[in-house]
Amino acid sequence: MTDKQPTTIGRCYGCGRTFAYDPATATMFAVDPETGFPPGMTALGSVREPSPEAVARAVEKPVCPTCVEQAKRFLEDADAPPPLKPWHRP
Ligand SMILES: [Zn+2]
Repeated sequence: MTDKQPTTIGRCYGCGRTFAYDPATATMFAVDPETGFPPGMTALGSVREPSPEAVARAVEKPVCPTCVEQAKRFLEDADAPPPLKPWHRP
């Protein structure tokens, strides 16, 4: 019985660490090689409608589990409403 797992060695887009991943289950991140950012995202961090050219040339980069966790936490934080800080204490 051979239980061979399809494992690929790649470099994490987030931290640059080399790690083994399964292309079937790993989190992949589309990156426009011209900008180094996802299609539609500018170097300034703003997001706009990606051009068809940017989508066409985008390549999928693997992201390691550590960075996936960090990204999730970041998204959760960004989702939360900003805490209201009163200027004056009662
Ligand atoms: Zn990483």
